[in-house]
Amino acid sequence: MSQKRMWQGGPLREWSETKTPATSMSYGKVGYAGRYGCDRCLKAVNGVYLVQETSSSAGMWLCSDCRQNVRPKQAQPEALRRAK
Ligand SMILES: [Zn+2]
Repeated sequence: MSQKRMWQGGPLREWSETKTPATSMSYGKVGYAGRYGCDRCLKAVNGVYLVQETSSSAGMWLCSDCRQNVRPKQAQPEALRRAK
């Protein structure tokens, strides 16, 4: 079993080409996906959150523990206006 990034910029997930107890969810007929992987601590978790440290940085997919430890830098007013 390995970890695979599901798409560019997407989260890591446990992944295998055959069904295993850890990767039991059929994914796109090409393999089986399991739990998500945290970009920071690499732990396998049930869910990850997309966190951006700055408005211009690429997002990281973090578990809830890491999410609490990474504090987004204060957004600049300009970034706030552009925020959706
Ligand atoms: Zn983590």
